[in-house]
Amino acid sequence: FWDDALSKLARELSPQQYKTWIQPLIFVGQDESEQSLTIGAPNRFKLDWIKKTFSDRFQALACDYFGCAMTVHLVLSVDGAREDVGQLSSPIGNPSFKEEITTKEDSLVNEQAFEIEDHSKLNPNLTFETFVTGKANQLARAASIQVAHNPGTSYNPMFLYGGVGLGKTHLIHAIGNHLLKEKPNARIRYIHAEQYVSDVVRAYQQKAFDRFKRYYHSLDLLLIDDIQFFSGKSRTQEEFFYAFEALLGNKAQVIITSDTYPKKIAGIDDRLISRFDSGLTVAIEPPELEMRVAILMKKALSEGIPMSEDVAFFVAKHLRSNVRELEGALRKILAYVRFHGKEVTIEVAKVALRDLLSIQNRQISVDSIQKAVADFYSIKVADMYSKKRPANIARPRQIAMFMAKELTQKSLPEIGELFGGRDHTTVLHAVRKIGEERSHNSQLNHEVHVIEQTLKS
Ligand code: ADP
Ligand code: MG
Repeated sequence: FWDDALSKLARELSPQQYKTWIQPLIFVGQDESEQSLTIGAPNRFKLDWIKKTFSDRFQALACDYFGCAMTVHLVLSVDGAREDVGQLSSPIGNPSFKEEITTKEDSLVNEQAFEIEDHSKLNPNLTFETFVTGKANQLARAASIQVAHNPGTSYNPMFLYGGVGLGKTHLIHAIGNHLLKEKPNARIRYIHAEQYVSDVVRAYQQKAFDRFKRYYHSLDLLLIDDIQFFSGKSRTQEEFFYAFEALLGNKAQVIITSDTYPKKIAGIDDRLISRFDSGLTVAIEPPELEMRVAILMKKALSEGIPMSEDVAFFVAKHLRSNVRELEGALRKILAYVRFHGKEVTIEVAKVALRDLLSIQNRQISVDSIQKAVADFYSIKVADMYSKKRPANIARPRQIAMFMAKELTQKSLPEIGELFGGRDHTTVLHAVRKIGEERSHNSQLNHEVHVIEQTLKS
């Protein structure tokens, strides 16, 4: 029962939700005579949440499996058995998967791998309606809507790329869901590239390429997510190439996502890369502040706990990288609020998110940054404001400007002022330059990190 329940939940929930809430649970046991089974949560907080959110679902799963006389009990359970749970293989996101190797368990699952053909694997919650639009994603959204309305015609394939947590998976599910609503009989399949790789391996092991092809080549819409996982997997790439050609030949729509644009994906055959780029390639960018605010407010409301604009601005200002991070923050706030019976205020957000936001950052002054950076690079603090330009001074100064932007709430003009009345464009240039360089220069990254530690200690 437990394995069955886990794999169902893994399919229903996002990997994140699954990992956070379901994976830590322990199947304590089953009492035949009393017709009950017990599931343990590792702490009171999770227990509470699970009870609120998943108890009906577990009851329904037990009902399906044993008949409805079975009652599910959710209890607090000590940590001991957790490792066992961790080892249960989840059907999603197994990053250590190797193309060449499959375990016996894998091949057991295999037997069914191609029998689930009527399953689109779409998550019904990921729709255009629940997708908040802003400058960062409006092109991607417009293209997706276009494709959803006219699949297999103009934009084929559609290639959607962008960083983690920006809504790629959401958008392609939305396309699938839209088409499914319009044409309930359409053969639609969402698949993560990693899963596709393991399907290829299974087909290979079972000599079932006929079945594999019959399935994949006859779809109306194939949504394939995170194609960068094909990197270095040449057999998979070959199979996908055939599938791709067959699908386009049938005027079936292919939609691909990746973390970067086609030419930049490493380890993929040029022939495929040029196919990826032959339709419409569209980027999705990180959300700007207003969009982050809108997302927070919309999601909070849909959870039944409205969030004021003030609070949303506060959170959105501190969390800038992506939507997934925002959702994580929102979950923390909502859990905190539900648990403590409080309203959502900035104070509450600060407490609930204290791990995420380094609130202490705001106590760091530009002054102290200038001093710490000057010390570190053995230059005079006065050089921070001076007009001198030799590299041994200019560079630490740029690093200090960058850190001032990162670690304080000061605006570019304010920072410029504090650096001897420099123009905000000078600061912007420094922020961009150091920020960009930091992503590939590990020495610089280390130095910034060390200075930051000094400042925070
Ligand atoms: P990616 O696939 O690009 O890594 P996801 O599609 O998984 O990102 O998005 C991460 C989370 O953020 C998902 O829960 C998704 O529903 C949500 N999300 C992303 N973009 C938006 C948006 N514009 N509006 C609402 N939710 C979004
Ligand atoms: Mg994704």
